Amino acid sequence: HFEILSLDTLVMELYEDSEHLAKNKNITILLNKMNEVKIKGDKVKLRQLFLNLIDNAIKYNNEFGKVEISLYKENKTAIFTISDTGIGIPKESINKIFERFYRVDKARSRELGGSGLGLAIAKWIVELHKGTIEVSSELGKGTTFVIKFPAVE
Ligand code: ATP
Ligand code: MG
Repeated sequence: HFEILSLDTLVMELYEDSEHLAKNKNITILLNKMNEVKIKGDKVKLRQLFLNLIDNAIKYNNEFGKVEISLYKENKTAIFTISDTGIGIPKESINKIFERFYRVDKARSRELGGSGLGLAIAKWIVELHKGTIEVSSELGKGTTFVIKFPAVE
């Protein structure tokens, strides 16, 4: 169900929900830039996409870690970024994390639960919106995801 929607409103709602999730692990969620951006999209699916990313940023973080979120517009592109100070992703795994059922470290992952579907779903939702998703990570330091969508003027 596609409609023109305010991405900043949606992200702000999720931010408020996720502060709750983060508290258990003493993780701080910081809002960096939060500019007004409209895109054409499916609210339910976009919410799922951002939740999957926020869930990972908390789940693969350390106690007292940080998660930083930003949203802004550059030319005709909406740009959402989420960075965490977590465990990071090894270089040899970075190309596989969007595959269904792929999880980096079986032992580590089993404790944390999950099925390895979150990012495959996230990527599918991004592509449904004609967007792109990119990841960069440093082992032991943290991970950043950058998502771009065509913005509505
Ligand atoms: P699910 O999302 O289905 O509950 P999951 O979190 O294991 O399970 P994905 O969200 O698809 O699955 O992520 C795939 C794997 O990529 C994870 O198991 C984890 O190893 C790694 N990963 C994803 N996000 C991060 C992150 N922010 N920091 C470190 N590793 C991550
Ligand atoms: Mg996940």
